[in-house]
Amino acid sequence: MKKPENYIPPTTTQSIDRDALLAQLAGIETITDSVQIAKLSQDYYHFSPVLQPQLADKTGDLVVRPVNEAEVLRVAATCVKYKIPLTVRGAGTGNYGQCIPLEGGVILDLTRMNEIRWIKPGLACVQPLRVYSHRWTSCTCCLTSRALHH
Ligand SMILES: Cc1cc2nc3c(=O)[nH]c(=O)nc-3n(C[C@H](O)[C@H](O)[C@H](O)COP(=O)(O)OP(=O)(O)OC[C@H]3O[C@@H](n4cnc5c(N)ncnc54)[C@H](O)[C@@H]3O)c2cc1C
Repeated sequence: MKKPENYIPPTTTQSIDRDALLAQLAGIETITDSVQIAKLSQDYYHFSPVLQPQLADKTGDLVVRPVNEAEVLRVAATCVKYKIPLTVRGAGTGNYGQCIPLEGGVILDLTRMNEIRWIKPGLACVQPLRVYSHRWTSCTCCLTSRALHH
């Protein structure tokens, strides 16, 4: 895809002080193992023979797994500070490469944010939990049983 004239290529974590970056993110779970990072850089794009060759080599530099909004904000602020691309990731079940880090950087894995805050009849406040996780199933069951109850 053609880049606009004023396009400034982002810095990736490979070209900055990785230790300094990790220090900024201290206390937040991070994954630095390259095999795990490669896995968490994928979704189901490989269903598409068109996307397969375009996305096969795309990978992030670091995965962070926050547990609350404050940690998400800290990750975002750090990425802004270092001008690092930030890619949000849920369960990674998208089919078109939506959560694939096209230019490296930090992958914000939200799967630990799977709390059910409250449930009222027909309404629930939940964190961005996994679409197909058992928690979602239990949430759905809970909603269904409460809806039946009321
Ligand atoms: C076997 C199979 C069956 C499927 N069936 C259906 C179906 O019936 N209906 C349907 O609609 N889809 C279906 N999908 C597609 C996919 O499961 C859905 O699009 C799902 O909602 C993606 O959620 P995810 O958490 O996996 O998102 P990801 O793939 O992780 O991310 C998708 C996009 O959302 C962004 N994102 C993720 N979480 C957040 C967040 N908390 N805040 C902001 N942005 C975020 C990502 O950056 C990315 O751009 C199917 C996929 C598979 C593999």
